[in-house]
Amino acid sequence: MTAVGLEFDQLKSSADALRRSISNRLMYGVGKDAVTARPQDWLHAAALAVRDRLVERWMVTTRRQYDQDVKRVYYLSMEFLIGRTFSNALLALGIYEPMKAALAGVGVDMEALVDLEPDAALGNGGLGRLAACFLDSMATLGIPGFGYGIRYDYGMFRQQIINGEQVEAPDYWLRSGNPWEFPRPEVQYPVRFGGRTVQRDGHVEWIDTTHVNAMAYDTVIPGYATSATNTLRLWSARADEELDLSAFNQGDYQRAVEARNISEDVSRLLYPDDSTMAGRELRLRQEYFFVSATMQDLIRRYLRTHSTFGRFSDKVAVHLNDTHPVLAIPELLRLLVDVHHMPWDEAMGHIKRVFSYTNHTLMPEALETWDVELLARLLPRHLEIIFDINAAFLREASDKGAHDLDFIRRISLVDEYGQRRVRMAYLAIVASHKVNGVSKLHSQLMTRDIFADFARLFPDRFTNVTNGITPRRWLAQASPSLAHLVDGAIGPNWRSDLFALDGLRKFSGDAAFGAAFRAAKRENKVRLIERMTARTGLAFNPDALFDMQVKRIHEYKRQLLNVLHVITRYNRIVLEPERDWVPRVVLFAGKAASAYRMAKTIIRLINDVADKINHDPVVGDRLKVVFVPNYGVSVAEVVIPAADLSEQISTAGTEASGTGNMKLALNGALTMGTLDGANIEICDAVGNDHIFIFGHTSDQVDALRCSGYRPRQVYEENVELRTVLDQIRTGFFSPDDPARYSDIFHTLVDWGDHYMVLADYAAFVQAQEAADERFVDTPKWTASAILNVAGMGTFSSDRAIAEYARDIWHTRPIEQVG
Ligand SMILES: *Cc1c(COP(=O)(O)O)cnc(C)c1O
Repeated sequence: MTAVGLEFDQLKSSADALRRSISNRLMYGVGKDAVTARPQDWLHAAALAVRDRLVERWMVTTRRQYDQDVKRVYYLSMEFLIGRTFSNALLALGIYEPMKAALAGVGVDMEALVDLEPDAALGNGGLGRLAACFLDSMATLGIPGFGYGIRYDYGMFRQQIINGEQVEAPDYWLRSGNPWEFPRPEVQYPVRFGGRTVQRDGHVEWIDTTHVNAMAYDTVIPGYATSATNTLRLWSARADEELDLSAFNQGDYQRAVEARNISEDVSRLLYPDDSTMAGRELRLRQEYFFVSATMQDLIRRYLRTHSTFGRFSDKVAVHLNDTHPVLAIPELLRLLVDVHHMPWDEAMGHIKRVFSYTNHTLMPEALETWDVELLARLLPRHLEIIFDINAAFLREASDKGAHDLDFIRRISLVDEYGQRRVRMAYLAIVASHKVNGVSKLHSQLMTRDIFADFARLFPDRFTNVTNGITPRRWLAQASPSLAHLVDGAIGPNWRSDLFALDGLRKFSGDAAFGAAFRAAKRENKVRLIERMTARTGLAFNPDALFDMQVKRIHEYKRQLLNVLHVITRYNRIVLEPERDWVPRVVLFAGKAASAYRMAKTIIRLINDVADKINHDPVVGDRLKVVFVPNYGVSVAEVVIPAADLSEQISTAGTEASGTGNMKLALNGALTMGTLDGANIEICDAVGNDHIFIFGHTSDQVDALRCSGYRPRQVYEENVELRTVLDQIRTGFFSPDDPARYSDIFHTLVDWGDHYMVLADYAAFVQAQEAADERFVDTPKWTASAILNVAGMGTFSSDRAIAEYARDIWHTRPIEQVG
């Protein structure tokens, strides 16, 4: 096919050109005029005008990727927590102000439009947001990368708080259409399930299967201040036409439609679980669904420009964001061996050069395993392949001298204790060339504890890449006031070179800069207060210390420890109302997995405690407690820039990295943290004097556990703590139902306090006193806050992606000129 000379407008970026584009898109794209257009329609038209400008870059980048034939990265993730796209795209293209003017020119207020855009909430929390930050950085650095995942019809549920309790509502984010995506009905792959395997002509065939089609939807991911873009390709399930027809021909119309719905269920909903392994069949179907389509797509793309598989592993890198996409390994093997008839050993050689895997958790209850029986029923060929991989691996291990039967049983990909299960993390390790943890501590503990046997067998395989966040969204977009101030001091370059923030150090003692810094922070607090007051009717003092814990609700993250401190503070204020207490606003936000009873009870406790404190006239504005509902990317963008203090208080050894800690420090909040995850590296970067570290270290946690931890003794010996826990137990905060929180009490005092909340209580309260003391020393606090921002250079996701590209994927950016 010869290329024809297409004639399209080279779209300009002036306000006039944008206004014309918006008018055209409203008219020809949305089908409305200025008289009938609702705000939604204007947003849609403006989004299409922006998308048009992205597409031009996208086509150029795609052409360059083919021409330069640089190794491509396929980043596989069950979750992409992207949030809104409109402002982000405007900033990437450098057309924020012209767009604002263009909309004003047609009588539309851009700020109001921005809030109408629904979040693309295709993720639970940190893991999904990491994938979104990584897409941003891959595009910005020009790394040829694709994100691959599932286009869920329903993303993360919307959280409402009704009478203090979490109530989940479905998040149908596609209701008003999605202007950012391109449906690709021509890109569909069958994904098969069930059936059995037979041998034919020396090859295995997988027959008698049912199937569903995976259809591609593409979203352009713009890089910042570069013409480079990337693609996020999400798969949506489409029932097979033929299947429907056969039932329809038998006159059973209803059954045909029902069958259609059932097979399309596979991309219906994101499982709202975090940090636990759910183990549901539909979830396994989802995992296979998206990796099968992705592996078929990857082979098709490779074969478009290569006639043999000879260079396959020089051109393809596949990254597994946790174990959820691990079935990509047996699926790629199946395609190479069964379909393309590659010899097993050769295929395995490619696999081991192509795959890499990031581990995200040390907690055993979160490590995925799948029942062998279920796999045999759903994916019989893949189970055979897994057994073959296991057999080869165990042979290799015994060649290396591992003959101890107990050891072999321990490292086997198949857990033989009780019901047989496949250990997905082990499969990922055995078939990958690199396995990384997400912070220095996590990577150390990973090789010391959960994967110690494998680290001994494959010492070169394990490495660390500490997580990062994109400064475009988390500073430039979320906090225009602070971004503007930083621009004035060191120029705008930090957006693509976050180490430039180091230049702020010399301003930490500068009184004028300090005052401007506080003014920027205050502006962000006022912006947040407006929203909180509109919702709660309560007044908040913008000069109070804003103390926040915003993240998923989970016992290991220890929102309970925070609550114990809040109640302690309340009791102290009530005892001595005349003292000059440092005013605080304590803010919580976060969702609880819908089936996680304890997490939901914790939310209720926070709301009950807030209710009591906020309405106690003795307290006034010396202490306010709020639970901000529906934590997600857009809520985070408003909340985080207003923080003074960042609560990162997980039990040491449980939080793999954390990224919320980085976002908050980048916005000038001081960390109140345990020596866990990336907190340790944040401490190194900002210096001991500018962070509040408290509590047991991970080694001390282990030691305490071994020596016999007795929480009841802690409870009995600390009078203040005992008072607080007794209030919780006896219904002080729940007079309508005094026993409501007795489980919380018993979990902490009588049932082992697994996350060692009581063990860290006294140290935590003491560290909070130190924070108060520092806060009233305004120049000192401000200097610390500035030094926190200045120290965040290393926590850019650009740094993380550059490390992945260099050490794990072995790829490089495409060249932008020529
Ligand atoms: C960054 C982020 C997270 C992760 O927060 P942690 O404190 O690291 O657990 C979760 N949810 C959203 C919406 C985020 O933006």
